[in-house]
Amino acid sequence: MSLAEQYRSVAAELSRVCREADRDPSEVRLVAVSKTVEIPAIASAIGAGALDLGENRPDRIVAAHAAYPRARWHFIGNVQSRRIADIVGCAHLVHSVFVEKHLRRIDAAAEQAGKVQDVLLEVNVSGEQSKGGIAPQQAPELLRAACELPHVRVKGLMTMAPQGDLQIAEECFADLRALRDSLNAALPARIAPLSELSMGMSEDWRCAIRQGATIVRIGRAIFSERFA
Ligand SMILES: *Cc1c(COP(=O)(O)O)cnc(C)c1O
Repeated sequence: MSLAEQYRSVAAELSRVCREADRDPSEVRLVAVSKTVEIPAIASAIGAGALDLGENRPDRIVAAHAAYPRARWHFIGNVQSRRIADIVGCAHLVHSVFVEKHLRRIDAAAEQAGKVQDVLLEVNVSGEQSKGGIAPQQAPELLRAACELPHVRVKGLMTMAPQGDLQIAEECFADLRALRDSLNAALPARIAPLSELSMGMSEDWRCAIRQGATIVRIGRAIFSERFA
């Protein structure tokens, strides 16, 4: 399969899985994670219909955004203080914020750039040491801090499930949804409820959809020939 065919095949399966789960396919955004291919190759995915793309390194999102400024670029990687202005300069949505100091710097960079930066709070639901994100019980406090920042808008939550066991992954996604719902129940009326759940990658996105994902981040299933 060509890259364009691979993109279309994943997009078609996404619609199918949504309908099987009684969900409207328009409620789930496909973010094509292009981090493993050369920048010119991204054109094939965009040509095949990709509107949302994801990168996990500041240098890459800057270069990819410069090459394809009309695509919506999602930052899904490690946020480092000194690269925040670059990330805010190109990101439609930052999925991976979990440090209060970074939220404050995003707020300042967004004010400079004359925008309000949409973000997701990354939650380490599984508790794996190797993963980023705040512990679920720290989410209310981080959300409260974020809500005080005028140039940051928290749209929802993001997580990465442990690899290798789809049942454990699905429980992890269910936990993220429950956390979002409990955070919403405690939000003051002036704050818009958290609507987004960014969860699900090449191997586990189907169970993420069943558990309410509104954004899936798919890399290899689109961009790797071996996965086709
Ligand atoms: C690389 C990456 C993805 C995509 O992973 P695949 O398994 O290739 O689909 C999704 N989310 C994050 C945070 C990533 O770093």
